[in-house]
Order: sequence, then structure tokens, then C-alpha cells
Amino acid sequence: MEKKNLDWGNLGFAYQETDKRFVANYKNGAWDKGVITEDATVRISECAGVLQYAQTCFEGLKAYTTEDGKIVTFRPDLNAERMEMSCHRLEMPVFPKDRFIDAVMQVVKANEAWVPPYGSGATLYVRPYMFGSSSVIGVKPAEEYQFRILVTPVGPYFKGGAHPITVRISDLDRAAPHGTGDIKAGLNYAMSLHNIVDAHKNGFDENMYLDPASHTYIEETGGANILFVTKDKKLVTPKSTSILPSITRRSLVHVAKEYLHLQVEERPVNKNELKDFTECGLCGTAAVISPIGKIVDHGTEICLPSGMSDFGPVLKELYDTLTGIQMGRIKAPAGWIYEIK
Ligand SMILES: *Cc1c(COP(=O)(O)O)cnc(C)c1O
Repeated sequence: MEKKNLDWGNLGFAYQETDKRFVANYKNGAWDKGVITEDATVRISECAGVLQYAQTCFEGLKAYTTEDGKIVTFRPDLNAERMEMSCHRLEMPVFPKDRFIDAVMQVVKANEAWVPPYGSGATLYVRPYMFGSSSVIGVKPAEEYQFRILVTPVGPYFKGGAHPITVRISDLDRAAPHGTGDIKAGLNYAMSLHNIVDAHKNGFDENMYLDPASHTYIEETGGANILFVTKDKKLVTPKSTSILPSITRRSLVHVAKEYLHLQVEERPVNKNELKDFTECGLCGTAAVISPIGKIVDHGTEICLPSGMSDFGPVLKELYDTLTGIQMGRIKAPAGWIYEIK
């Protein structure tokens, strides 16, 4: 198999059409067996549930080449389980976990030529998603659904070293109390777009959202969970029912405890505590960890002691250990790495 002739190290995070995708259809109460297809176009009713009432959810994971040349993906079972939660909440049919994992493997295998080589820093981003495809005009769930997985190569998140970002405490909310903040639904992103555009206009990289009920506790940003480090090197991560359960965050908590022997606290984090932390970062599949250098709370600047030029030491060690596990340089916990053969 010959790799595509791409400048892997300089790819951005953008959609690039690849050769194959997986498509399955749900009709009359059952999923068909699904196919790998070359057709990148979706054809649905003008009145499809997804178009009228945003009945859609998605997942995101990566495939990459390890140091010894294997193509692998990271914990796809957790993506399958999380999508199951999203589907339950949105009254969509579940695509069974074993089939989800198998479809991820099939579509990555079919696009082997697009999996970036080891050492390039690039990865193959895998995007499973589902939507109501049949027509709906009275408000109710669709009767037919499509489950698809597309893949697209993405470049290294940090080109030329880490660049700590500046975030602002947001006045708007991303999730309602007892709402849909804990599922991976397009609707949570649609309503965040105005706020992120506004943040960028005002010179901030991200919005840090507070708990929607009391605006007292830190939740997450529009697309990543948050990590803090205390003066005595404890890892602290916010706990709330309106946060999306990040697979990267759950993996980092395990790495912190079991590999780095750090104390970890998963608890509500009051915004008054921000000034006491020594490091702060965002975590998610895209960057693994992205360091935060400055948090702005309505004119009050909180500058993290780790500074604006690099990772702080604890988050750096966490980053190196998890990426080492993913790339096959460090032994992974059982069941974390799925090899694509
Ligand atoms: C996807 C997502 C994350 C990150 O989850 P990972 O599984 O680590 O990629 C965090 N927050 C939100 C709101 C998300 O949609």
C-alpha cells in the first residue's frame, strides 16, 4: 500500500475528502449491514429530522501509526458507549458497540493510504456520526437514520512547540442544568458558535464556561474538558453533570494515578480557586492537552505561573506519557489500543 503524497507535518485541522467512508441505514426498526462506499455525498429528504430539529450526534477519535509501524486506534469502545448515551438522550437508535468498533476498523483499513506515518505528528481523525434522515414536520423523532464514519488526515496540533492560550470566563452558558451538556450532540456546538466567534473578535482563544445553575463553578470549554494542577502537584478536574465525559480526560486521570502516582481530585472547582493553581490546560482528542497561560475573568487577569511560552511540568509529563502510550513507546493499559489489521 502506497501512502498518499501529502505534506503530513503541515496539514491543518480541516476536512479533506478521503477515498472511503462507512454508511449504515436504519429503517423499519433495524440497521442494515452497512457498506464502505466511495460516495462522499449524503442525499436526504428536505424535511429530514436532522435538518428541521437537529436530531444528530457525533463522536471523534484518531487512528495513527505507532513506532513499530502498526496502525492503531485509541479506546474506540468508549466512543461507542458515549454515542450510545447520546442516542438514548436524543431518541435515536443505538448502533451496537461491537459493530461500531468493527466499522471504525473497516473504514480506517479502507483508508490506510491516508493514515499519516509515524513521527509526522499528523493523525487520521475519525468522525462517526448519526442523524435522523426521514422527514419530520410535527416534532417527534425521525423513523429512519443514517450512521456514517468519515476519516480525514489532520496535522500536528502543536507546530513548533506548545503555545499556551488565553481563555475568558464566559457570560453565556453552553449547557442547561439537567440539559444535554453531557452528550456529544451537534446542538451543543451550534449554540456555542456565536460565543466563540465573539471570543475570537475580542482576542481570546476559548470560552471557559461556568456551571449553568449558579455561575460559580468551572465546567469546560466549548469542545474540551479542563485540567488544573495545584501547588502541591495534585491534578484537579471539574466534576459536574453538565460536562461532556471526555475520553482523553478519563485516560489522563488514569495515567496521573497509575503511571505518575499523582493525587487526583475530581470535584467541583470554584472560580475563586483559579488564582491558586500553578498549571491549567484543556484536554480532548484533538490536542490531547493544550496548555492555558492566562484566564480572564471580566477584566481580572489570572496568569498561570507556567507562563505563556510552554507547558507546565506536570501537564507536560501527563502529555508525554499519554502520547507515549498512544504511539506505542510506553506500555498501554490492557484494552486501550486497538490494532487495525
Ligand atoms: C468531544 C468533547 C470533548 C473531548 O472529549 P474527548 O473524548 O477527550 O475527545 C470535551 N468537551 C466537549 C464539549 C466535547 O464535545
